[in-house]
Amino acid sequence: MTTVSNHLPTAELQALDAAHHMHPFTTNDELKERGARVITSGKGIYLRDSEGNEILDAMAGLWCVNLGYGREELVNVAARQMMELPFYNTFFNTTHTPVIALAAELAKLAPEGLNHVFFAGSGSEANDTNLRMVRVYWAEKGHPQKSHIISRLNGYHGSTVGSGSLGGMTYMHEQGGLPIPGIHHIGQPDWYAEGGDHTPEEFGLARAQELEAKILELGAENVAAFIAEPVQGAGGVIVPPNTYWPEIQRICDKYNVLIIADEVICGFGRTGNWFGSTTMGIKPHIMTIAKGLSSGYVPIGGSIVCDEIAEVINAIEFNHGYTYSGHPVCAAVALENLRIMQDDNILDHVNNVAAPAFKAVLDQLGEHPLVGGVNVSGMMASLPLTPHKASRAKFAMAKGTAGFMCRERCFANNLVMRHVGDRMIISPPLVITPDEIDVFHKRAKLALDDTYKALKEGDMLKAES
Ligand SMILES: *Cc1c(COP(=O)(O)O)cnc(C)c1O
Repeated sequence: MTTVSNHLPTAELQALDAAHHMHPFTTNDELKERGARVITSGKGIYLRDSEGNEILDAMAGLWCVNLGYGREELVNVAARQMMELPFYNTFFNTTHTPVIALAAELAKLAPEGLNHVFFAGSGSEANDTNLRMVRVYWAEKGHPQKSHIISRLNGYHGSTVGSGSLGGMTYMHEQGGLPIPGIHHIGQPDWYAEGGDHTPEEFGLARAQELEAKILELGAENVAAFIAEPVQGAGGVIVPPNTYWPEIQRICDKYNVLIIADEVICGFGRTGNWFGSTTMGIKPHIMTIAKGLSSGYVPIGGSIVCDEIAEVINAIEFNHGYTYSGHPVCAAVALENLRIMQDDNILDHVNNVAAPAFKAVLDQLGEHPLVGGVNVSGMMASLPLTPHKASRAKFAMAKGTAGFMCRERCFANNLVMRHVGDRMIISPPLVITPDEIDVFHKRAKLALDDTYKALKEGDMLKAES
């Protein structure tokens, strides 16, 4: 039996990690050279590493630890549930109280008409469920050919074969034969990077109208659904222009195309409402949930399904499910997470305290010569880096170089801020306080200054021609 404790020297932990652990979305050989940072514990919005650094986690883990680290209530509920019933399946005419309670609570919190939940172990799995469910729905309604799904380039819906195909990450499609047939990608509403001289409003409309063009190209009778994140997360926190979603909604209504809102990041308060669909004025037929559902304490995902689809799916045997669909421990922790969110008025905190302070700080960081703009919705944001502020120019050097340099300098200043290409991404725990947002501000400013200095000294502030 290998015993590994936090008390081993960091180098030893890193060597063992490199020898046996294959990290996701990582060039492991490069990481081996550098050595992975060993995270040993967390409290509130801070992480601690094996060298004793206290790191402000402005990514909430991976967009998920919305209540922060070290919430004893979540821990206690998990322990209690493990004692009482650590596992039982929900396949064979059985159920249990945690899953009953969680489904009912989600139906209560979800927008009107979304009253049914199919559980999964993750966001990826839930989107695989959605892919099959919308196709089965149309087939049962007598339209088996209505099976194509439209999605967006640079959207993120997970990493399984199905969800990776729904996603529009071309670097993922390049590996392993994705996307599977029947999935089509249109352009994203990224005005900052792609809007050129158009106003955001014009650009938002134009990008939404790509959906109409694609539906007409495929034939509306062949299109089952459109899937999108209300605000793109992993693609770089891209807040669509305000003309975008109303036009998407109009098009989907007109051609009888279902809307799947992927709420894995936007859900549970991230944008200031329970769901990003509410913030963006979307009327979805299915919502994908995961991440913040349990504040990341345990893995759980699911699909919140509208009455109309549930009525059809419930009338047949849907030959689909996961061993851990509605896992009792995960369901109990998720339910407790939702209870805390309500009892502690987390949405009020976000809307009245955290988001205004966050926005004020972002606006100040937006003044930095290296920052080309500010994208923010509630408690998710991005700061795109640029060598030339006025024109939102891209760097002449390889995409992501400046972003990576900035991320490394964040780490050096005890701040986790991720980069997607040359955009810095911020998604802190929702419980963050104004004082903590000030600490974020100081560290982010230092990292931007350090990056700017290094770019200047390296003569790297050149714009793409
Ligand atoms: C993270 C994410 C997923 C995938 O969830 P996993 O739990 O990693 O499988 C799906 N959709 C969106 C929008 C996400 O951000």
